[in-house]
Amino acid sequence: TSKHSPNGVVLSWGKYTNKHTYIIDHRSTASPAWKTVGEIYDNGTYTCPYNKIDFGVVNYFRIRLKNTNLVSYSTSVNGIDPTKPMVALTYDDGPFTSVTDSIVSTLKANGARATFFVVGNRVNSYKNSLKNAFNAGNEIANHTYSHYILTNYNTKTIQSQINQANQAVKNITGKAPTLVRAPGGSINSTVKSAVKYPLIQWSVDTMEWKSRNAKSVVSVVKSNTKDGCIISMHDLYESTAEATKTIVPWLKSQGYQMVTVTELMQIRGYDLKAGEIYYSGYRK
Ligand code: ZN
Repeated sequence: TSKHSPNGVVLSWGKYTNKHTYIIDHRSTASPAWKTVGEIYDNGTYTCPYNKIDFGVVNYFRIRLKNTNLVSYSTSVNGIDPTKPMVALTYDDGPFTSVTDSIVSTLKANGARATFFVVGNRVNSYKNSLKNAFNAGNEIANHTYSHYILTNYNTKTIQSQINQANQAVKNITGKAPTLVRAPGGSINSTVKSAVKYPLIQWSVDTMEWKSRNAKSVVSVVKSNTKDGCIISMHDLYESTAEATKTIVPWLKSQGYQMVTVTELMQIRGYDLKAGEIYYSGYRK
């Protein structure tokens, strides 16, 4: 696996049984030739410091045994500069083809990514939009199977809502979500103990489901965004797709990197725990 951390990209792999030295090679879309960035003896993990990776592009790593080209492991991560500001845009309640596709293409055109908290019972109807969002590097997360307000249900129903939604996404993208957003942000102690994933809330509420007005969404984002915030929107309304066309280039012009929730929390050193609530990834 590979993940971000405050100090660098953490690579982990399965060790060979005998003692070996592992070589860590790196390349990126900006510097396409493999270059060795480190080596480590008899270990299954290596942290590649951020000064050895390229920001704003995809970075690839391979781990091989010293003096051979036998590759034991390869992975890729998005290059994010931990010293620069970043935000996580989130879109709930989709997918919904006409809106989701437009948002994904705006993100892509600006080198941005977002997190889509999808409703499980919608994903089969909008399979291609989900795949498209996932393939563009966005994070697909869990917003329950039927958009149930979880505080109205018991543990068994809550867990089945989460598991069914995860399975529906996994069937399409091959990857099960690792984050949950409770519909309505409604969480109580039953929900916290039933949900075996981190519960992600938000710190900027655009309220666009209420206003349905692109201009007001843009103005909320412009006046409330700060480094590390998690912005809540919904990929159900044309007005949100329109607002996204303004928000994303604006955030970029302000120097914000638009990253997924998982990337934000890893880089800012938040150790995400099951059943715990998170509102933002502010610097600690
Ligand atoms: Zn919702």
